[in-house]
Amino acid sequence: MLPSHPTTQLLEAILFAEKAHRGQARKGAEKQPYISHPLEVMYLLWQHGVRDVVVLCAAVLHDTIEDTAVTPTDIERQFGSEILALVLELTDDKSLPKAERKRLQVVHAPHKSAGAAAIKAADKLCNLRDLRRTPPEDWTAERRQEYTAWAAQVVANLPPIPPASKPPLRKSWQ
Ligand code: NDP
Ligand code: ZN
Repeated sequence: MLPSHPTTQLLEAILFAEKAHRGQARKGAEKQPYISHPLEVMYLLWQHGVRDVVVLCAAVLHDTIEDTAVTPTDIERQFGSEILALVLELTDDKSLPKAERKRLQVVHAPHKSAGAAAIKAADKLCNLRDLRRTPPEDWTAERRQEYTAWAAQVVANLPPIPPASKPPLRKSWQ
């Protein structure tokens, strides 16, 4: 039997996220498969030096509980409690109205763990890139501006993100 390797878990998370998001598309005119987005978030972190597989797995899984049929139990069973905790930090309560969810992202931002803060910042940056490159077709310039201002507010409220060269990123940055 092959010895376990951290890359195995990352590849499994990528395949798990691809299956979960299968059939979903991004809102932009290009209608990319949804999985492009979590892959971009994960890769952006990698480009910035993140090598913590727990953080990279949580990055590619960050929208599964919020946007697919995947449950917390599914994530915990396959990837463990540490990755689940990070994904839950990135999951909005969908029972709340959208405006309230957006308000709470700003309010909760300062309390994120370092790993969740890094993923959240990468998520917002990728969404802003998409908004510029391939915006939802029905969004007015005003709505794009509102989204940009809100995303900037969320990121500005995150705790300082430690340099990736000083692992472990996922520990709380106090
Ligand atoms: P949504 O939350 O509905 O959409 C934004 C989210 O869509 C992003 O955070 C991202 O989330 C995902 N996404 C998918 N494709 C793209 C893409 N191509 N580019 C960027 N993001 C993409 O929209 P809003 O943030 O505007 O929030 C809705 C709120 O706006 C509600 O409160 C609603 O009442 C209000 N509203 C405002 C209007 C206005 O003109 N100002 C008009 C209508 C509603 P993820 O990372 O999860 O993929
Ligand atoms: Zn996202």
